Parts: sequence; structure tokens; C-alpha cells
Amino acid sequence: MTWARVKARLLEAGAVRLTGAPVDRYIERSSAGPSAGGAGSVFFSAGGRRVRLEIRPEAPLVLEHTGSGHARILMDDDVLEGELEQVGLHCPRQAYITVSAGCIFRCRYCPVPTQPERVKSPEEIERMIENVIDRIDAISITSGVVGSVAEEEDRVCTVLEKIARFKKPVGVSIYPREGTPARLKALGVTEVKFNLETATAALFGEMCPGLRRDALWTALRESVAIFGRNRVFTNVIIGLGETDADIEACIRECAAEGIIPVIRPLNPVAGCSSYVRPSAERLLAVCSLHGEILREAGLDPRLALTMCTACTGCDLVPGRDSDGER
Ligand code: SF4
Repeated sequence: MTWARVKARLLEAGAVRLTGAPVDRYIERSSAGPSAGGAGSVFFSAGGRRVRLEIRPEAPLVLEHTGSGHARILMDDDVLEGELEQVGLHCPRQAYITVSAGCIFRCRYCPVPTQPERVKSPEEIERMIENVIDRIDAISITSGVVGSVAEEEDRVCTVLEKIARFKKPVGVSIYPREGTPARLKALGVTEVKFNLETATAALFGEMCPGLRRDALWTALRESVAIFGRNRVFTNVIIGLGETDADIEACIRECAAEGIIPVIRPLNPVAGCSSYVRPSAERLLAVCSLHGEILREAGLDPRLALTMCTACTGCDLVPGRDSDGER
């Protein structure tokens, strides 16, 4: 079975039950991203490719830690041998830091607004990075929105001034306002990700009340001009009720503008807890199409230095997880 096929099955399952030796040093507990607030995740890699799996005692899939990071996943018809990876901060090889855990918005699929609000100071973030500097290649910064969009951007910009001294590629994913891409560029940011979140405008209106899709598109288009092709990303969740044609149209629209979409399988939590995760077959078919469209547009996710496209833990990433096979 190809890696893409195996990973699609693991992403469909989303979680593992742990057995064997203790895994404490490999567990990551997030305050942002698709697993925010859960019991933690592990990163499993095989042949240099990676998947993030939530830890859930009731999960049908079993991950056995045989010691010293060696692990295997027991699938119905297969045993997948690999390694558990240590994280930098949030994910392997990066310090991926959430500045503000908390949000004034209430996107239906997102667990962040239901968790305790906490804002990290620039000094705290500097210390966090110092502690992992010998095991990271990149710094990624994200944030909820605490106070207002403008206040949050100012807070993130102050952090960016502080962390420039680490001389690592920096990726930033925040909710943008007018002029955000140029301000981030002036502070030395290498890559940006502004999340469209849904494949269609109608679903966006339903899922993300109060957010402006036109502001996201403006920021994304400006960013391609400022940061260049292959340096601008957007998360699009798959599994919110969109059709395959909707996903295809969204990928094509992004690629035509020089933007690389990150096709993120829904983690059914918060207001979407009754939804089901997208199937492995659907993820594989969309990944194959995604790869074709990006190739035609001359875009290459393998060039990403920061954030989710460099990490690959939560998504099937064309070029990194698959070379287009189905
Ligand atoms: S793919 Fe993105 S959200 Fe998922 S673990 Fe990696 S950095 Fe975090």
C-alpha cells in the first residue's frame, strides 16, 4: 500500500489508542489547531513522511510503542512500522506558537473560543523558542483574535520584532486586515497563511459568522505579490458539507492566483461534533486532483519552509505525501 493510501486511512480514523512503553516525551498538547484542548497527539513518521494522530483511549486503531521512539500501528490488514517524533513546539522541527488562545469570533468547527483565554507575552514566546532552538528549522506564529483584529495584529507584530534575532524562516497565520501582508513582510516574515476555511462563500457565511471572506481574498492576493508564489497558503476544510466540485473549484481558484491551499480534513468538534470525518477514498481523490492542479499552476508544496505545508501532520500534501498516485 502506498504511503498516501495509508495516511488517508489514518487521517480518516484521526486517532489511536496507545499501548506499550510510556510515550510521555512524545505527546503534544495544543491550544490551537484541529486538536486544541484534547488529550494530546503524537507524530508518527515512516520513511521520512509524517502523520499527527490524536490520542483517544476508545480509538479502534492501536499504536504500540516498542521503546526508544520505535512504534507500530496495527491496522486491519497491515502493520505500519515507524518512529514517534519529538516536537519542537506544537509540531516536529518547528516552534509553532499560538500568541493568543482565545477568540472574539465563533467559527462553528473551532474549539478555541470554548477554552480559557490566555495571551502570551513577547518575552514568554522568546523564552519558549530559546528552549527548543536546537531542534527547530522554522518558527510559525498563529493567534486567535483577542480584543480586536487590529489589537491582535499589533500583538503579533511585537512578537515578530522580538524573534527576528533567531534568524529562522518565520511563517505567520492570523486573521488579516487592510495592509497586513505588507506589515508582516516589513518584519521579516517569509510565508503567510490566511485561511479561507471553507470551499464556498455560502458555507463560509454559515460557519464563520462575522469573518469577512473578501478580506481574506484581498490579503491572499496581495501576499502573492509581496511574498511570491509558493509562499502563500490558505486552509480549506474538507468535510463541512461541500461537494467535490466545490473543493475542486476552490483549489483551482487559489492555484490560479498563486496560492497553495491546505486541504484540511475536518476534525468534528465544537459545533460540528455531529459531522463525520471525510473518508480515506475522498481524501485520496482530492489529493490527487490537488496535486494535478498545483503542478499545472507551477506551484510546489515541497518548497514550504514553515507552518502546516512544511509539517504535513494533519493533511495529505501533494508532492510530500504523494506524487499523484490514487
Ligand atoms: S499540519 Fe499544521 S495544525 Fe497540523 S500539526 Fe502540523 S502545524 Fe499543526
